[in-house]
Amino acid sequence: MKFQVMGIVACLALLPACGHKKRKKDILHAPDVLLVETPLSLAGTSPASRDDAAFNRCMTGNADPDVLAGCNLPYVEVPSIPREDQVESILGSTLISHDWQKERFRSFLLSTRPEIISMLSCVKGVAISSDIRPSFYYSPSGGIYLDAGYFAATTEESGTVSTNPDSREQNFDQIDLLFFTVDTVKPKTAEEARYLDLEGLLAHELAHACDFKADAVNGRHLSDDLPETPENAVYQLAQWLYFGNGSAKAKLSQYTPEEIGKSYEESPIVDIYGYGNRYEHLAMIVQNHLAFEFDGNNRVDLLTDNPKEKQNLRDFPIYWGMTGKFCQPDLFAKGRDITKRAVPMAFDFQRTIADCPTVVHPAGTAVYQVLGLPPSRPAS
Ligand SMILES: [Zn+2]
Repeated sequence: MKFQVMGIVACLALLPACGHKKRKKDILHAPDVLLVETPLSLAGTSPASRDDAAFNRCMTGNADPDVLAGCNLPYVEVPSIPREDQVESILGSTLISHDWQKERFRSFLLSTRPEIISMLSCVKGVAISSDIRPSFYYSPSGGIYLDAGYFAATTEESGTVSTNPDSREQNFDQIDLLFFTVDTVKPKTAEEARYLDLEGLLAHELAHACDFKADAVNGRHLSDDLPETPENAVYQLAQWLYFGNGSAKAKLSQYTPEEIGKSYEESPIVDIYGYGNRYEHLAMIVQNHLAFEFDGNNRVDLLTDNPKEKQNLRDFPIYWGMTGKFCQPDLFAKGRDITKRAVPMAFDFQRTIADCPTVVHPAGTAVYQVLGLPPSRPAS
């Protein structure tokens, strides 16, 4: 996810004019008849006595929730150790569209944190495909469906991945405001950037899976404990950008950009995508807290104007900005508590709130100043 956040950073850093600044996010429910159109094959060895054709059909064949509920696939069994056995078990319930995806996923699984591995016990299967965009969790099948673009490391591999844009990107172009988020951790290599993106994507989708597994096992979603989403100014913005809600778009004109920023700053929702619903709020809390714990990552949220061709976003003055929304003192401990409940294995956070400052950036500050970048042209 996030995941054109990296695109924004590269754009800010490298290009004289930068028009693209979109953020891909997942969807919780697959909208189409078919979950995946490309035929998929198993990445690993099938568990004993499983009907692989039925597994494939239940993961990919038909998006009718009633049919998929009848499948009732078992959760992926993740042994406690060693990592090689854990990885083999996960690959045995992973479907892929192209062979190269197997080694990319395997090498990620071998190097990722044990918490992520443990969260894979909340899914019933994993599908990676060249035609999935955006990635999503689908509760009727219990599977996560991942955009193969997150795994591609070479030009050849990228060449097999769909070039279709996320259909929601057009929503961003239809309003004058731009709300975007930049990670504070800057990867040093393309490999590290890929790793962080994939870690964030999995933390998010697996948080959904563990939220729904809690409901299946205990009759209650973890996200049931989260606060009601206030229908404030930033709620309208999120509903338009990520969910295409036309009436929300119309309501946006009632608010100034400063009011939108302030409503976000003062609300209990930790990420603009969390305004979609409680499921997404839970997933964003978990994603933010794990990225902070694992990588020291914080997030900068900025509200400015939507750049036109040849304009450089870096020089734009902001209407509102904030670093560390999820670190606000009244939200931080609650966020950690629910994150611990979403991760199946026991673990303790090592970082503290002192490592995670919350800063509000004054209106009028240029984007490059907030992000600690040089301006795009010499000051006159
Ligand atoms: Zn989500």
